[in-house]
Amino acid sequence: MNLRVHSYESFGAVDGPGIRLVVFLQGCPLRCLFCHNPDTWPAEGGTETPVGEVVRRALRMRPYLGRSGGVTFSGGEPLLQAEAVLEATRALQAQGLHVALDTSGALDTPAALAALDAADLVLLDVKSPTPEGFRAVTGADPAPYWNVLAHLRATGKPLWVRQVVAQGLNDTPAEKAATRALLEGLNVQRVDRLPYHELGVHKYEALGIPYRGARLAPPSKEALAW
Ligand code: SF4
Repeated sequence: MNLRVHSYESFGAVDGPGIRLVVFLQGCPLRCLFCHNPDTWPAEGGTETPVGEVVRRALRMRPYLGRSGGVTFSGGEPLLQAEAVLEATRALQAQGLHVALDTSGALDTPAALAALDAADLVLLDVKSPTPEGFRAVTGADPAPYWNVLAHLRATGKPLWVRQVVAQGLNDTPAEKAATRALLEGLNVQRVDRLPYHELGVHKYEALGIPYRGARLAPPSKEALAW
């Protein structure tokens, strides 16, 4: 199968343990207020790349990845290409490589759940602790995300959780408490709260897309702490 690849990062140090080849996949069904990669949104873009080519690229990097690193599929939303991601995950694992899946968790198709099950680690976004908040941030139906959460609870999949925190969005103590409650029962190994920033705004201008995050601002240090 082919993957639609947006781009690669060869020495990723934040998208999973160790040094990683990060494969950014094209296409995302969400439209997050604070997205800094709107260029990944269209599903029809990217470069069609056979799974075997991605595996060969990872194997060429193996000396740098070492025992602690591996490959991370990110996006965009990698679960939009769940069947090819599953095939790639199995092929990489067959070579002894650790595979992480960096996802918004917003797709609950059987193929998406199978890709989540196959990953060694899931990097899961928390867009909002409530379904209403999820819809407001992403513009999408929240039901699949809550189904994915239930699945991840049932399977005990190891998770690194990521949440963008912004003033005017989710920086209150009540929001933090609600996020803790949302994560109960999940196998959370790490939580990264990332400050909202506006580094991607120029991409909206270049693409002629209105930027919806204009009313947001970076959070205080206290609000960001977990
Ligand atoms: S899920 Fe990620 S890529 Fe998709 S819109 Fe949200 S921030 Fe952007």
